[in-house]
Amino acid sequence: MSCLFCEIVAGRIPAKKAFEDSDLLAFHDINPQAPTHVLVIPKRHITSLTELGPGDDALVGSMVRRAKELAAEAGLRERGFRLTLNCGDDAGYSVYHIHLHLLGGRRLGWPPG
Ligand code: AMP
Ligand code: ZN
Repeated sequence: MSCLFCEIVAGRIPAKKAFEDSDLLAFHDINPQAPTHVLVIPKRHITSLTELGPGDDALVGSMVRRAKELAAEAGLRERGFRLTLNCGDDAGYSVYHIHLHLLGGRRLGWPPG
């Protein structure tokens, strides 16, 4: 089954990369919801939060830590930012390869819509 974000990892679909190492890729969202909107993904396909196991704890931790580094690089350390992991229909999950949203650069409403 083809996966959009696996295609981006493989380089077959272009993306504006913000970070890459052996385990993670970060790229700018194609439809940004804030001045900074970056997606941090594992290179390994994980369909959803529901599929995470104990062996994924370090990977998820590295996604969060990378996102806060990218937030700092975007000048958001002091003013703040939001990290979001959507899951399932009620959350509007649309690409079934786990991704951490980094959003910032404007006042973000709470509760989210
Ligand atoms: P979610 O609703 O949490 O599944 O978020 C999926 C995100 O992927 C949305 O914010 C989309 O704008 C974004 N997206 C979809 N296709 C691409 C793409 N080709 N490159 C970058 N971001 C994308
Ligand atoms: Zn995938």
